[in-house]
Parts: sequence; structure tokens; C-alpha cells
Amino acid sequence: MLSVRVGWGYDAHPWAASRPLVLCGVRIPGHEGLAGHSDGDAACHALVDALLGAAGEGDIGRWFPPGDPRWRDASSLGMLRQVAARLAGAGWRIENVDVTLIAAHPPLAPWREGFVQSLAGALGVEAARVNVKASSGNGLGFSGEGSGLAAVAVAVLEPPDAPEAAREAGPSPAAR
Ligand SMILES: [Zn+2]
Repeated sequence: MLSVRVGWGYDAHPWAASRPLVLCGVRIPGHEGLAGHSDGDAACHALVDALLGAAGEGDIGRWFPPGDPRWRDASSLGMLRQVAARLAGAGWRIENVDVTLIAAHPPLAPWREGFVQSLAGALGVEAARVNVKASSGNGLGFSGEGSGLAAVAVAVLEPPDAPEAAREAGPSPAAR
């Protein structure tokens, strides 16, 4: 049987007028950005937490402490790239990731393909393994009312101890 691990991540940041808006590592012009110690990219933060959750590696705060000056205004896509590289180096394989962004504004659907390409590049996987969705929030809650943006993410990983042969050949001899 295929062995997989699932991780879930959630993040939310308030809008901040003086900052550029960066989501999934993509700079979106014409809209205020997100407050935060880093660049405020809630999509990347939620996805980092999903990856770390699947791998049993804690959370984003453990890897990138918010008070650490190294991460001030840092690229969160860079953090995602670092985490993905570390997990890949340890033998983890990304089966797929799925991200949902929730914000009343700006319209995010036109950016979907750019988001997918950006995340796939940072993760080192083909774009078919990455999905990004956007919801307006239908006027409900802080994100739907327009005071901030929320992001949720799910990651499915194959653990390092899943041997290549077992992935392809089905049950091991002992299990037959
Ligand atoms: Zn965050």
C-alpha cells in the first residue's frame, strides 16, 4: 500500500497600506500588501506549515522565528524553497499540494497560473502537482469583509522510508 503523509496549514495577515502585495511569491501591483515580519505572503506561510506538518517537522515559527532579523521583510517564497529543499534532501517526495486563498479583494483568479508556476518552481515539482484556488469569502469574517487575507494549504508527501520498489510494485513479499 502506498504510504503518504498529509499536512495542513493555515495563515492570515491583515492588509497594510505601506507594503507591496506578494502572494505565492508573485508581486501583485495596484493593491496594498500584507502586514508581517517577512513579506507577509500568507500563501507561502500556510504551505510551509502544511509541508512541515506532513513531515512531522513542527511549524514555520520553529524554522523561521518571527523575531529573527534575518527574516525581516524576507521572501517567503525563499522560505518555502528552503523547506522544500531540506525535505527533499531528507528523502521526502511531494505528491501534491493544494492552496486556497480567501480575500474579498483584489480579484485573484487572474493570477492563478502565475501562482502555480511560482510555487512549483520553489517546490521543485512539476506544475501538475500544485493547485491554487481563490475565494472571495462571500462577505463573511475578516477575510470576506476585506480586512485581511487568509490562506489554507494541504500537502501530501511520500515519506523517505517508502522504497521506490514498494511504490511501484505494490505489496512487499512479506505482505503477500
Ligand atoms: Zn504568515
